[in-house]
Amino acid sequence: MQVKNYQIEIDKYLVLKYLGYKDKVPKDILDEVGECVDESYGFIKPAICFDQLKFKFKDGILLPDESIIKVQYIVEVLKRSDYIVMAVMTLGKEIEDKISTFFARNDYMKGMIYDVIGNVGLEYMGKRFWQELAEVAKKDGIGITQSLNPGTGGWKDIKDQSIIFNNLNTSLIGVELTDAFMMKPMKSLSMVYGIGKAVKTSLVDHDCAECPLIDCPYRKEVAKCIN
Ligand code: SF4
Repeated sequence: MQVKNYQIEIDKYLVLKYLGYKDKVPKDILDEVGECVDESYGFIKPAICFDQLKFKFKDGILLPDESIIKVQYIVEVLKRSDYIVMAVMTLGKEIEDKISTFFARNDYMKGMIYDVIGNVGLEYMGKRFWQELAEVAKKDGIGITQSLNPGTGGWKDIKDQSIIFNNLNTSLIGVELTDAFMMKPMKSLSMVYGIGKAVKTSLVDHDCAECPLIDCPYRKEVAKCIN
C-alpha cells in the first residue's frame, strides 16, 4: 500500500460556479471567495492511500481477503481488468471543522464557500490521481476504467465501502468509516479502478470543460470523442 501527500489547486472560478455565480460576480463575493481559497491552502491536508489488488472472477469480483464485489454493474465494468486499484483520499479534518464552525456561527455564506472549496479540492485530487494512473497504464499499453465509488452511480450498495476500508490502512491518512458507512472526515473520497490489457481507457466521468488540469493529455481525446 502506498501513502502520499498531494499538492492541489483550487480554482476559484469553479468554486464560484458551483456556488451558482456565472457571468457577473459581485466584487465582494469574488473577493470573499478568493480570500477563502487562499486561506484554505493553510489548513487543507490532501493525502491519499492506495493499493493494487489482484482478483478472481467468481460470483463477482473476489478479492484476496475473500470479500466479493457483487453489484452487477460494477462486476461488468471490472471483470476484464488484470488488477484493480483501490484508493481513499482526503482533505483532512480541519476543513470539516472550519465548515461546521461557520455554520454554527450562522455565517452560512462562509460555511458554503468552504464546503464547495472542499468539493472542488476533492474533485481535483480525484482527477489528478486518475490521470497519473492513466499515464502509467498508457505507457504499458493498457487501459483504465472510470472511477467507481460505492454509494454513487451504478454502485448502489454503500455497504461496499467496507470492502475498500478492509483492504486499505486508512488510519495512515486519518480516515475512518462510520457505522453508517460514511467517511470521516467527510471531505474524503473512496474509489476503485480496473486496469488491464482488455480495458479501454474510459473518459465517462470526465467533464473537461470544468477540469482545472489544463495540461492533461486526455483533454484532447475527450474533444475528439465529442466532435
Ligand atoms: S482534463 Fe478531462 S480527461 Fe483530463 S483529468 Fe480533467 S476531466 Fe479528466
